[in-house]
Amino acid sequence: MLSTDEILQAMSEQGLRITDQRKTLAKLFGETSGYLSAKDVYKHMECKYSGLSFDTVYRNLRVMEELGVLEQIVFEDGIKFKSSCSQDHHHHHMICLQCQKTYPISFCPMNMTDTPEQFRVVKHKFEVFGYCRECEEAASELKTAAHSEEEH
Ligand SMILES: [Zn+2]
Ligand SMILES: [Zn+2]
Ligand SMILES: [Zn+2]
Repeated sequence: MLSTDEILQAMSEQGLRITDQRKTLAKLFGETSGYLSAKDVYKHMECKYSGLSFDTVYRNLRVMEELGVLEQIVFEDGIKFKSSCSQDHHHHHMICLQCQKTYPISFCPMNMTDTPEQFRVVKHKFEVFGYCRECEEAASELKTAAHSEEEH
């Protein structure tokens, strides 16, 4: 996952002006291991910058995603963002539905996809959802506990 400094460095290397708001965004994502919705980010930013519009925040998220410092994943309850796992290495994700821990995977199914000749691919997404071992174990412990209570 990119740190605050790595996010800032990547943004300025790509010619993005580092405003105070963008610094705050970089810090927020550099220090958050999970995913944040645009609304979460807006709530965080709103306290610091009064009168800030949701559109401005959203536009910044888009720009940061386009530069590759943020990654966006579509969850069932909407789009969420997190700091990129790595900026220069093409990868996909396995994501825990419970704790949202993300495991980057280097396997890319694009190579195995037959693309029609009349189609030009510009980008693709591949995400796998499941449960990490910790969440799986916690869930089965709960089940066992519920079960033994039933027996009494
Ligand atoms: Zn990633
Ligand atoms: Zn988990
Ligand atoms: Zn790929």
